[in-house]
Amino acid sequence: MTSNGRVDGLAVDGGRLAAELETLATFSDAPAPAVTRVVFGETDRQARGYVARLCADASLALRVDAAGNTFARWPGTDAALAAVATGSHIDAIPNAGRFDGTVGVLGGLEAIRALQRAGVTPRRSIELVLFTSEEPTRFGLGCLGSRLLAGALAPDVDDRLRDADERSLKQWRTAAGFSGALSSVRLATGAYSAFVELHIEQGPLLEADGLDIGVVSAIAAPASLRIVIEGQGGHAGAVLMPDRHDAFLAGAEIALAVEAAAHATGSIDTVGTVGVCEVFPGAVNSVPSRTRLELDVRDVDVVRRDGVLAAIRDACAAIASRRGVAVGIEPINADPPARCAAEIVAAVTSACEAQRLRHRPMISRAYHDSLFMARVAPTGMIFIPCRGGVSHRPDEYASPDAIANGTAVLARTLAALAS
Ligand SMILES: [Zn+2]
Repeated sequence: MTSNGRVDGLAVDGGRLAAELETLATFSDAPAPAVTRVVFGETDRQARGYVARLCADASLALRVDAAGNTFARWPGTDAALAAVATGSHIDAIPNAGRFDGTVGVLGGLEAIRALQRAGVTPRRSIELVLFTSEEPTRFGLGCLGSRLLAGALAPDVDDRLRDADERSLKQWRTAAGFSGALSSVRLATGAYSAFVELHIEQGPLLEADGLDIGVVSAIAAPASLRIVIEGQGGHAGAVLMPDRHDAFLAGAEIALAVEAAAHATGSIDTVGTVGVCEVFPGAVNSVPSRTRLELDVRDVDVVRRDGVLAAIRDACAAIASRRGVAVGIEPINADPPARCAAEIVAAVTSACEAQRLRHRPMISRAYHDSLFMARVAPTGMIFIPCRGGVSHRPDEYASPDAIANGTAVLARTLAALAS
């Protein structure tokens, strides 16, 4: 490696990386090609063990924190300097695909191995991070590990966050072998000089434009709400229509109001989704007495996004009074957007040019651990194309070449930032 971090003779082993991604996909609660891997469940633990073995094989020093975030460090020649970090997640929502998150973990590992093979000796340590629970499946809150690392969550979440069976985060993480106080998870100030995450685009733009790499400049701001509607239950035959206060029908109107509010901004960048609808008691011959919705609103413009949330609240109030039901709205999260650091955007862009790859600046519309890492370190993201822009589905696909390209760009970026 030259003093400016340029690497000669970099060769990513795309075949090995593709095979490792396939193996990782076998740790799943759903039959292939679907992947379901919920944090701290049996398959998540097995998958963590597999990644840890690969890291140990690469002579990386492993550490886990109380939240189960896992760190694999390649020591630099100057141990006193802040490390350069990369990483992503391996948990997968129900019936998801093989590449979301995993490309950033195993691609990060292959980037380190490629630098090792190229004879690089980094000045700063380079650290691979496997974040706990990027997906909100188990506890209803995404980016759990990176939020804790960034100090963006109070440690009382240990007891407060619970799964559908009222089992707490503390119970789950302890059973998975991660003990200690959650307050110890927060990163020391300046722990990392940079953080770079490799990820599939999860959208169609790179493929449509025939480009290899998206250099992310900003991450959109997501917000989610839990809405509980309390109506009046009763016998589906006996309660006459004029007398009803049906909690599900109020919820259905609210769901349509979410769609209308997202459309009403007139911007293609506003999206609103009701992804959870639970009806109680859930019997065919019973008028629904309670309905729980969870919805997600995102935008790259936080003011516009908050305007959509306000419109949804207004609609809830109107629907509640018209239908004679009670509507409770509980914010789950409302995170500010993140800007990527100019020096990392520049390093990624230079790496694309060194690899002779076609690239463009992009905004990340999906949620990533980088959103929270950006609070504690200069952060950037590298996107690679995925077929049809499809993600969170079993047919999610990124080609081995696309993954190898992203990994090479990541390797060069890490080398430059660690030099
Ligand atoms: Zn992801």
